[in-house]
Amino acid sequence: MSNPVVAIVGRPNVGKSTLFNRIVGERLAIVEDTPGVTRDRLYSRAEWLGKEFHLIDTGGIDFDDHDILLEHIRYQAELAIDEADVIILVVDGTTGITDQDQEVARMLFRSKKPIVLAVNKIDNIQRLNDVYEFYSLGFGDPMAVSGAHATGIGDMLDEVIKHFPEYEGDEYGDDVIRVSLIGRPNVGKSSLVNALLGEDRVIVSNIAGTTRDAIDTPFTFEDQDYVLIDTAGMRKRGKVYESTEKYSVMRALRAMERSDVVLVLIDAEEGIIEQDKKVAGYAHEAGRGVIIVVNKWDAVEKDDKTMNKFIADIRGEFKYLAYAPIVFVSAKTKQRVHTILPKVSQVAEQHSLRIATPILNDLIHEATTVTPPPTDKGRRLRISYATQVAVKPPTFVLFVNDTELMHFSYQRYLENKLREAFPMEGTPIRILVRNKS
Ligand code: GDP
Ligand code: GDP
Repeated sequence: MSNPVVAIVGRPNVGKSTLFNRIVGERLAIVEDTPGVTRDRLYSRAEWLGKEFHLIDTGGIDFDDHDILLEHIRYQAELAIDEADVIILVVDGTTGITDQDQEVARMLFRSKKPIVLAVNKIDNIQRLNDVYEFYSLGFGDPMAVSGAHATGIGDMLDEVIKHFPEYEGDEYGDDVIRVSLIGRPNVGKSSLVNALLGEDRVIVSNIAGTTRDAIDTPFTFEDQDYVLIDTAGMRKRGKVYESTEKYSVMRALRAMERSDVVLVLIDAEEGIIEQDKKVAGYAHEAGRGVIIVVNKWDAVEKDDKTMNKFIADIRGEFKYLAYAPIVFVSAKTKQRVHTILPKVSQVAEQHSLRIATPILNDLIHEATTVTPPPTDKGRRLRISYATQVAVKPPTFVLFVNDTELMHFSYQRYLENKLREAFPMEGTPIRILVRNKS
């Protein structure tokens, strides 16, 4: 399932990035816990009233050769119109309507997309009068907000989520494993797609057609149905914004969210670079099954230590992906490419693992008996009850006497105990801690 996309549009200096930061603010604290995920200001996950969505700040995109302002703004609007489900048009209440506002508004108006008009910099009640002239843009009631003072944001988001499309599952059945690939340019994504689909015994059905983000290829391997979600081949449809690097990352991230299992590609020839960490961090955060695929293994001079050294590097750089299996392949020579799909199938199975409640509680009980939770100012955490509330990824809720007493390291200990008892290779686990009411 892919989350709705919300784009923030408007001319420079109206306060787009300020609002962007306000909207994702809470979320960022979580993201930053994942090492290696340097935040991409362009694109972030956000949430309002339990609804998750993606937020794009179109102001954060550089269109290298197009720094003529008006053109720049047009590209931003075009991107938003193509990609977003809801658009927030930001204007500046202190300046009134400008020609550029009008230009963007015209484009957005023609698109028939849902538009929420945010009049920013309404920092106090006196300024509310400045809002009225914006009715003339034709987008209904303007929302008065102040990015600086964080006011009006909630009302604005209420309006935004009203326009979210109803969730529709994709056309594939529950037993179909959705796979996507992610990795920096030239790591070999297209080559690996071809190698996977070109394998003997892989039966490719008709290409299901092109979604807005990706080309889906359904196929069957050893009686298991898969669909490969491929964004690599879609990079350039000729539009200016599509050639921007950040844009293709964004597209890949959305494909990843529709997937059960993500192959995170690393280039063996070049080793791990900064960008890989970001990509891997996203994969971890999305909660999908993850397999780390080291490609171009043919191009590396090897001795008996090379592979272990590479594994150690990966484990060191991607500590949070400790659960992800690593495979070494060559898309070029097809070496070990045949090991990928069996692994994918295995990881998909673990990703939807269910643990029966009594077994889970026995396990937690035993773990807390062997190593009791540490005390905190004389008080000790007590876990009354555990239950699994979701799969994909396995998600557990622990009911405790006081959530404040649960420490990260103890939670990690419990996670390790779960992983020792159950095969959960390749899948993250989520543990939520709730106060027993
Ligand atoms: P962007 O270019 O549209 O992304 O705009 P920025 O978010 O960078 O903001 C442009 C300027 O407006 C900055 O100096 C901000 O501090 C300021 N600004 C943003 N929001 C507000 C607001 O609500 N009130 C006031 N007074 N200034 C704001
Ligand atoms: P993408 O940008 O991630 O889709 O990467 P491509 O599949 O287009 O590959 C980028 C380059 O790497 C091309 O020149 C490929 O021929 C080369 N390449 C891809 N896989 C391998 C491999 O396993 N070994 C070697 N030696 N080269 C590869």
